[in-house]
Amino acid sequence: MTNILDMTKSELEQKLNPPFRAKQIFQWIYQKYANSFDEMQNLPKNLRAELAEKYNISPLALVKEEQSSDGSKKYLFALRDALTIETVLLPMKLEEFDEDGKRIHHTRYTVCVSSQVGCKMGCAFCLTGKSGFVRNLSAGEITAQVLFIKKINNIDASRRVNVVYMGMGEPLDNLQNVVKAVGIFSDIDALAISPKRQTISTSGLSSQIEKLGKMDIGVLLAISLHAVDDETRAKLMPINRAYSIKSVIEAVKTFPIDMRKRVLFEYLIIKDVNDSLQSAKKLVKLLSGIRAKVNLIYFNPHDGSEFQRPSEKDVTDFADFLNSHGLLCTIRQSKGLDISAACGQLKQRRENELA
Ligand code: SAH
Ligand code: SF4
Repeated sequence: MTNILDMTKSELEQKLNPPFRAKQIFQWIYQKYANSFDEMQNLPKNLRAELAEKYNISPLALVKEEQSSDGSKKYLFALRDALTIETVLLPMKLEEFDEDGKRIHHTRYTVCVSSQVGCKMGCAFCLTGKSGFVRNLSAGEITAQVLFIKKINNIDASRRVNVVYMGMGEPLDNLQNVVKAVGIFSDIDALAISPKRQTISTSGLSSQIEKLGKMDIGVLLAISLHAVDDETRAKLMPINRAYSIKSVIEAVKTFPIDMRKRVLFEYLIIKDVNDSLQSAKKLVKLLSGIRAKVNLIYFNPHDGSEFQRPSEKDVTDFADFLNSHGLLCTIRQSKGLDISAACGQLKQRRENELA
């Protein structure tokens, strides 16, 4: 049975007569949060029955939910083949009211989606990498994560969220399905999340960065850099042996970016590995000439990890150095540290519990 969420609207139009039924079906699924074809009242009864025979509408089932004190929520979903993935809902800016109690703005949400079950890249600090690669997610399994989270949290359909491909997996190792997901997300009859509000994070597959850049679909790019010299980076991220730092930087320079936006460089700070001011200095040099923004991330330790979390002072000093040398930099507040924050950790805990 086909997962209907894997289809773009035009693919669905080609299967239907009259084609405009595709638009109605999209709105039922993505905007009225229908859980079955039977609910789609403006479709003829025989069409609803036919759809129910051909397509499934529910590629995910909720296994577990954890709430953190800062409002972020982490979800473990089971796919139809019972494999599990993680998705995180991050409220970025909380709602505000004026003196008369009138709402000034709503909470802004970002959803962090997984793109694969497991990952081939094997980064030394990452739990997902440790467990190896299982399979790619389909486009619909990616978009369903956002749809389900909006549904479960009663987030109004008209409220648009941002998407970051920073959950489990390497999105550029699943380029075709990820690009398809970007397109389905942005459909105005679906979740209407424009590519400008979707950020693809990669461990630095240079040739794929160039390929994505040539497609010019308008998504934002994030690079998990984490080190400034090839030796350190290769120890942390084996992919660096195939694609050096230089090749990643060259690829980024070919990537089309909106004049008002920047390429995000993620830098995971690990105690005594890459936290020196010497590294900060090299980082400034490396990124000169790129419209870049750096996001410093505290390494989040997990059972059996050989690395340690850096001190707050080292991270602040690192950030101050970058900012005072003209490199825009923010520190990622470890959202949900108390709910097994970084990617792969909820899944791991669940597996330990079951073992
Ligand atoms: N594969 C892609 C996207 C998923 S990983 C990539 O590597 O960019 C998303 C982010 O989580 C990456 O920046 C990764 O470095 C980070 N991450 C992985 N393990 C972590 C840990 N233990 N603590 C903090 N961040 C971690
Ligand atoms: Fe894969 Fe990203 Fe984890 Fe590296 S950090 S193993 S690329 S998910």
